[in-house]
Amino acid sequence: MSQPLTDRHSRIHRSLRISIVDKCDLRCTYCMPEDQHFLKREELMTREEIGTIARLFVERYGVNKIRLTGGEPLLRPDVVDIVRDMIELPVSLGLTTNAMNLHKHLDGLYEAGLRKLNVSLDTFDAERFRTIARRDGYWTVWNNVRRAHDKGMRIKLNMVVMRGVNDDEILRFVQLTEHNDIHVRFIEFMPFAGNHWGRERVYTYAEMLGHIGSVYSFEKLTDDPHSTAKAYRVPGWSGTFAVISTVTEPFCGNCDRLRITAEGKMRNCLFAREETDLLSALRRGEDIAPLIEANVLAKHAMLGGLPQFKPEKQEEVLHDLSARPMVSIGG
Ligand code: SF4
Repeated sequence: MSQPLTDRHSRIHRSLRISIVDKCDLRCTYCMPEDQHFLKREELMTREEIGTIARLFVERYGVNKIRLTGGEPLLRPDVVDIVRDMIELPVSLGLTTNAMNLHKHLDGLYEAGLRKLNVSLDTFDAERFRTIARRDGYWTVWNNVRRAHDKGMRIKLNMVVMRGVNDDEILRFVQLTEHNDIHVRFIEFMPFAGNHWGRERVYTYAEMLGHIGSVYSFEKLTDDPHSTAKAYRVPGWSGTFAVISTVTEPFCGNCDRLRITAEGKMRNCLFAREETDLLSALRRGEDIAPLIEANVLAKHAMLGGLPQFKPEKQEEVLHDLSARPMVSIGG
């Protein structure tokens, strides 16, 4: 009988994000610091270790949702095998990708049983893509999104909205949902180590809805109680759009998410400043369950114990941030 992982704020955790690699083939400004170094292969969890840890969370603690993430998970040569292992578990499985290499793995992922993809795309402009990702690739990504959608994958398109960078494209992303059963998610720009975050660069949830509402009427949809996104639909359109408002309206009260980094460190929050090394203990043949339970009990009520990301708190937030950049936490 599984025993749910409950923290001291009575939140039950059923969702696990597993980063299976820390490196990425893009260098998005809001995610990867200029001087980022990557782990050595032997520091990464092996396929078997990922399987062992995932199975423990599922069988012992009743985790029923797993998302594979990175860095860029499709850079792992055994990614399809890892998906096959996860599909064996009684979970809803998803994968987050920048889709740069999706054409190489799409058939394998689909045959292995994967149906849910979260794809990062912040612009429809190839020039701007190069500025944000610090590398060319827009057409590769866009063509791969269409390929995956045509193949029957459920696509969530994640756009990190940055004021003065790409906020002028919000309507174009909403427009995409008219004839396409795609779910666009606008993400408020969040502070992470090395991403030059400033509160003034955040295009807020309220501004996004105001911007969209200036052209379209839309209806609020019912959100899953643990969802990170607040969803909407333009009536009669095929797809939906949503906002992830961690900066202006954090949603920690119902958080059910835990994370494992590519080197097997457990984080009880996206903004956690403490981590628990599960992999070293596992490699020593120790029981990692007490470590997992202690990590969950130590979870802060919100934002990993950081102050809310208000303008007047900016300095404190930037000072207290975890040293781990977004690229090695995973979306
Ligand atoms: S900031 Fe942390 S506690 Fe809040 S919703 Fe995100 S992961 Fe959960």
